Amino acid sequence: MSQILKLQDISLNYHTLKDETKAIENISMHLDTKEFISIVGPSGCGKTTLLSIIAGILKPSTGTITLNGKPVHEAKNKIGYMFQRDQLFEWRTVLQNVKLGLEITHNKDPENQKYLEELLEKYGLYDFRNKYPHHLSGGMRQRVALIRTLVLRPEILLLDEPFGALDYQTRKTVIQDVSSIITREEKASILVTHDLSEAVSLSDRIIVLSKRPSVVKAEFKTNLRKIPLIEDRKRTDEYKEIVDKIWKELGTSEK
Ligand code: ADP
Ligand code: MG
Repeated sequence: MSQILKLQDISLNYHTLKDETKAIENISMHLDTKEFISIVGPSGCGKTTLLSIIAGILKPSTGTITLNGKPVHEAKNKIGYMFQRDQLFEWRTVLQNVKLGLEITHNKDPENQKYLEELLEKYGLYDFRNKYPHHLSGGMRQRVALIRTLVLRPEILLLDEPFGALDYQTRKTVIQDVSSIITREEKASILVTHDLSEAVSLSDRIIVLSKRPSVVKAEFKTNLRKIPLIEDRKRTDEYKEIVDKIWKELGTSEK
């Protein structure tokens, strides 16, 4: 597998009028083609900051980030971002919501329109294309948000706690849906979460950050993505062992 994204010695300090917060210190990591990685770490350790740097929204104080060998700020549209709230516009239909990204980036050509309809069809939303978001379940809303991101053909997907706002039952279905769609579309992805079971069951690799200023504390690989159903992955010894190891890593970073 080849490396699609590469971070080298990334640091970031937030400056306010009064003081300086060192959020991230010397983080180096990479993401391979089609790989799904998770970043876990204590609350406030700099996970969202790191994703914002990767997305090109924040400029790091030091270090370099390259996407396919090019500086990431030259490739902003190649990176898709999904947040905790689905951020759908209630006054726009499903179709109008999904089209939004294409409108903003001036990519509303017939080929992309066709791709958009294919995605809606493939993931069970075509019949709902003229409905408004409030008619949809939480799970369907997250799927619409994901398709809106995918239609821009990003090379990398960034997911910042995208399941955090969902109730327990919806959450299970949505995680399975989103994970299957990402696998089927072969998108390299980075998920940020504080939920270890989510991180381990969805990923090829899990990166554990220390508390702030965060550095990479440990890294674990899994073979779990070979198993189609997430519930089945969670029943394996491999899953249990890795969750246990990460739990210990995080425990020692609290001290
Ligand atoms: P996480 O996503 O891991 O919970 P964040 O990346 O949101 O953590 O924040 C990391 C640290 O940086 C926190 O201590 C937070 O208070 C601080 N921080 C985040 N955003 C800003 C900002 N815009 N200005 C100053 N400090 C910030
Ligand atoms: Mg965060």
